[in-house]
Amino acid sequence: MIVKISSEISKSDLTRIETWFLKRDIEIRKVKTGRHLLLISSSQWKGDTYFLSRFKSVESLIDTGTEYQLSSRIYQSSNTVIELTNGVVFGRNHTVLMAGPCAVESENQIMHVAEVLSRRLKVKVFRAGAFKPRTSPYSFQGLGNRGLRLLRKIRDNFDMRIVSEVKDTTHLDSVAEVADIVQIGTKSMYNFTLLQRCGKLQKPILLKRGFMSTIKEVLQAADFIISSGNPRVILCERGIRTFEPQTRFSLDICSASLMQKISHLPVVLDPSHAVGIASLVPTIARSAAALGVDGLLIEVHPRPSQAKSDRNQALSLTQFEKMVPVLSSICSAVGRKLI
Ligand code: PEP
Ligand code: MN
Repeated sequence: MIVKISSEISKSDLTRIETWFLKRDIEIRKVKTGRHLLLISSSQWKGDTYFLSRFKSVESLIDTGTEYQLSSRIYQSSNTVIELTNGVVFGRNHTVLMAGPCAVESENQIMHVAEVLSRRLKVKVFRAGAFKPRTSPYSFQGLGNRGLRLLRKIRDNFDMRIVSEVKDTTHLDSVAEVADIVQIGTKSMYNFTLLQRCGKLQKPILLKRGFMSTIKEVLQAADFIISSGNPRVILCERGIRTFEPQTRFSLDICSASLMQKISHLPVVLDPSHAVGIASLVPTIARSAAALGVDGLLIEVHPRPSQAKSDRNQALSLTQFEKMVPVLSSICSAVGRKLI
């Protein structure tokens, strides 16, 4: 239950309302938004709300009927629109192409990719990780701060905005200094401290669905971020683990479609991590574009066979270049513009 209160509420009225909850042993979380104060209690609570509705400053009582609340379309019917400073917009009939290597490996590598993506293909968002969450401790873990410095160069030299991931809170501030969009990876979706810290940032957060999590759980993770103060969350479906071992994961396009319906947050798809096989990425990306999503996240590498992480799924620049006009036509066909 969300109690939406005008921020002009008097101190005494607020105390009366808080005491009312306290007496009933109902825990509430206070969230400040632009013009409102929200008191949010567990959605399971269904109480007599007559007392609350009598206050003039209580504007509405919203029961989303679900355990995720702030990410629900019942709470907010209009799309959340997220704009970056170079004209990139999520949530408004655009499909934003976000591309780049899995990891920053060297200056030559990312400069070369960024040059082709930006100058030749007009891609506006560059993705690459400096802190890589790897399953094996013996695999390349990313260049860390040196990688961030290289990403800053991309941002300065090309009119591109940067998506880069955080593994945990230790390097969050450094990543957030460089990244325009902070990515929370699939394995970190349950890092509640990280979610809450991302809620304190003034940056959009790209939240990847945990590969073993339900739709409800990813929306609850989004609520952790929003209720901590940051409403700019982008949901990313990147495939879930199923019984099928031949593709890396199974891209749950049903979830993407359902999330668009039940949540107001932008939804993007990541065909690369889902299928895990480079030759199949363009086909899966086409079906993702046809779904009509707010963005696509695609891995591309100048020499895929030498990529230090996620080698099997990286498109070459030639493969990527061939795919872009096809995606663009598909987006137009479904009433979107590929940017
Ligand atoms: C990535 O984007 O490179 C990545 C590690 O993604 P995920 O968390 O979805 O595996
Ligand atoms: Mn990757």
